[in-house]
Amino acid sequence: MKLTLSDHLFVLTGAGVSAESGLATFRGDGGLWRNYRAEEVANIAAWRRDPRLVWEFYSMRRRKALAAKPNPAHVALAEIEQQLGDRFFLCTQNVDSLHEQAGSERVHHIHGELMKTKCDSCAREPFPDESTYDEGTALPKCDCGGTLRVNVVWFGEMVSGMERVAYELQRSTAFVAIGTSGVVEPVASFVRALPHRNTLYIGPEKPANADAFSEYMLGPAAEMVPWLAQTFFTAKDDGS
Ligand SMILES: [Zn+2]
Repeated sequence: MKLTLSDHLFVLTGAGVSAESGLATFRGDGGLWRNYRAEEVANIAAWRRDPRLVWEFYSMRRRKALAAKPNPAHVALAEIEQQLGDRFFLCTQNVDSLHEQAGSERVHHIHGELMKTKCDSCAREPFPDESTYDEGTALPKCDCGGTLRVNVVWFGEMVSGMERVAYELQRSTAFVAIGTSGVVEPVASFVRALPHRNTLYIGPEKPANADAFSEYMLGPAAEMVPWLAQTFFTAKDDGS
């Protein structure tokens, strides 16, 4: 992986980055909530059937996210962004706001944002909202009569802002994926849509699409990403 100040760097982050801040992924084995798998609660059919249950799930996730703090991986990415400015683009699958809390400004939440709410009926702009709606509280309503829902992309829904993402992939000269399993589409295919092969994967284990990367570094993101930032800043000092 070659990374210099003149690079356009595209960074993709996944659940592995938030997990090190104590936010569980609610996916796979051990990801159960009240005997439901996340996939059973995080979809439009569940919302239509039982919106209260879905809000209880996201209320729990909002409380956990509010208590979480950015880890050294988030901080190191914010530091790299400070150096690269508009040549840096961060696409995250995470719905928490830990990247923003660490100081990142160019963050695209392809799976939406936990701390925003939108209407399930009208096209009003999603708005910041840390409220929780638990058992016994009324479901929040929009002025249009629709029910307000969390602004995350549910299973079966379209991801957000693919045009911008495609543009940033095309103009990138370096690509780093961190803590993402390489299974969920469309993000798993980003590494194959690049005009270059300057690619690096960082995470605790090999992703399903490991063969598409020119390099990978296995280990915790909270240790590896600061190392990457340090390498980058050293290269800068050398004038390379
Ligand atoms: Zn509405």
